[in-house]
Amino acid sequence: MRLYAFMQGVGWPKSYVGKILAICFVGTHVPLVSIVLWLVLRGEMRDSLPILGVALVATLIGTALTFAGVAGMLAPVVQSTAALDGYSAERRRPALPTNYRDAAGRLMASVQSTVLSLDETVGELQSRATTDPLTGLRNRHWLSDQGVKMVEAAKRRGEAMSLLVIDIDRFKSLNDMHGHLFGDQALIIVADALRESVRRVDQAVRMGGDEFCVLLPGTEAALASEIAERIRQAARLSVDRLLGPDVLTLSIGLSELGASDTGFVDLYSRADGNLYRAKARGRDQLVVG
Ligand code: GH3
Ligand code: MG
Repeated sequence: MRLYAFMQGVGWPKSYVGKILAICFVGTHVPLVSIVLWLVLRGEMRDSLPILGVALVATLIGTALTFAGVAGMLAPVVQSTAALDGYSAERRRPALPTNYRDAAGRLMASVQSTVLSLDETVGELQSRATTDPLTGLRNRHWLSDQGVKMVEAAKRRGEAMSLLVIDIDRFKSLNDMHGHLFGDQALIIVADALRESVRRVDQAVRMGGDEFCVLLPGTEAALASEIAERIRQAARLSVDRLLGPDVLTLSIGLSELGASDTGFVDLYSRADGNLYRAKARGRDQLVVG
């Protein structure tokens, strides 16, 4: 520890590369320093200046070549460190070479393949965590993170945003009458109809059970009402075609982001209130309110 403090005190470099280059510098200068000491002790300094000059030039050339060689040898370590730092800070995928067979080459290849496979696993876990396994729609976790951010962004930029909260009518009876698998089939068909009725920028989410919601960025209530009706018709048509007529209907509550809304919760609770009204008014309808 004391040696370390001393080295720091005399300006010994802190970085790994700096330390190695400093070691090279000291190493390549030992012969020159020995010759100088020898000549000083024997009092022959003055007579030996030409040979000393040759030794100095040779040492400087040797030092430069050593620096260049060692810097090249250190490149794999420096690049691997940068690749790991880039991934952990910004999840940047590395692009290290994988065709060198020596130890340093294997280090880079190993960092490259390990980080890429870690990235795939992270991506898959993130996707699973935010996707509803039955319908493939986004799920509640996604909504509470990305969905909330979408609403905040719309509010910040003063852009329009509408939300539909959609619930299947008397779904419990459908399950009781036709069985749970039939119910699952109906949920998948409704989810497909949702996906097909909205634009790429819109986000359809299965909240859980038989409840869905759709975030419609840049959309005012009038257009959102048209989209909601389109969804109701598309779901009805698909269900009629695939499961039989009059199997299910949808109730939908709609809300548009207003100046007094503080964020997602206000938008959602108004749409949910409208859904409740749609149920109370006899189901199979859209309530804008
Ligand atoms: P309402 O018109 O008032 O919405 O009545 P409802 O019967 O649709 O409402 P309720 O919330 O009582 O019923 C939802 C049902 O959805 C209850 C539950 O058994 C069923 N359910 C929840 N998740 C699933 C699922 O993944 N698959 C199936 N088949 N049924 C589910
Ligand atoms: Mg329901």
